[in-house]
Amino acid sequence: MSEASPLLVVGSVALDSVRTGQGERVDALGGSASYFSLAAVRYCPVRLVAVVGADFPSGFRQLYDAQGVDTAGLQIVEGKTFRWGGVYSEDMNDRETLFTELNVFEEFHPVLPDAYRQTPIVLLANIDPVLQKEVVDQMESPQLVALDTMNFWIESRKEELVSLLTKVDLFFLNEEEARQLTGYSNTLTAAKEIMAMGPKMVVIKRGEYGSLCLTSEGWFALPAFPVENLTDPTGAGDTFAGGVLGYLSQRGGDLTDGHLRRAVAHGTAIASHTVASFSVDGLLDLGLDQIESRVRDLWDVTQFGQRP
Ligand code: AMP
Repeated sequence: MSEASPLLVVGSVALDSVRTGQGERVDALGGSASYFSLAAVRYCPVRLVAVVGADFPSGFRQLYDAQGVDTAGLQIVEGKTFRWGGVYSEDMNDRETLFTELNVFEEFHPVLPDAYRQTPIVLLANIDPVLQKEVVDQMESPQLVALDTMNFWIESRKEELVSLLTKVDLFFLNEEEARQLTGYSNTLTAAKEIMAMGPKMVVIKRGEYGSLCLTSEGWFALPAFPVENLTDPTGAGDTFAGGVLGYLSQRGGDLTDGHLRRAVAHGTAIASHTVASFSVDGLLDLGLDQIESRVRDLWDVTQFGQRP
């Protein structure tokens, strides 16, 4: 195996207040970049670019350090940290956003430390597409640019998002967002439509039904790995992306079909660990051996002998 390439992530670092059938957490560590980086760091060095307010608990900063995430790009400014609140339906398939308080993100402009500009793989995690573009513009010929987004930004910044897609290699979004972006309710049709907007690969996340991955060579689908102790689905998508890109970075960003399929299996496996606990708790003690063991379990339950 080649040396793992570092990954750069820009996205939200948040204090999340979440209610599910299993309980409630207030001001827990969350945000797209938190989930992503704490998943991807299982595989490779991770560089975090984000902003928090002066109210951000020092214990959460120490947690990144203890987990090995490079926080040289995490700005701490006057004001309040981004806050998001959500409540899940009984079966956890639906969620309602109760509030989105951008706070310090209103004035934030990412500035990449010089040492970060040549990072080969970058994830533009869920955040304002205007800020995502500012990061791409500061990168020096990245090998792989991946993007994630959310209904909030498709509603408020569609034009900026669509224009950014021409600079993106791999686009992660969920089924509802794909529908919202294209107007097509058929997942495969929507994925094809999105590919035509620029990305070389599109991964559509389908919650408990798994994911569908479209490349120029065709499509590939995997179910989610079912867990009985589903506790908090928040961050499943971000940790899925962390597993996918973490695995690819260990392979030097090689995007051949087999690598991509195994990368999606890793994303699926790590997401199944995240949702079994609140906040990022399911990631903190997770070893690569446990993720690989779940990838094997996923293989066991999806294969049905030799090709019929
Ligand atoms: P996911 O469950 O994968 O959609 O990710 C949920 C995470 O995204 C939560 O931890 C939130 O803090 C964060 N989040 C929610 N809304 C936004 C937004 N509009 N921009 C950036 N991050 C957000």
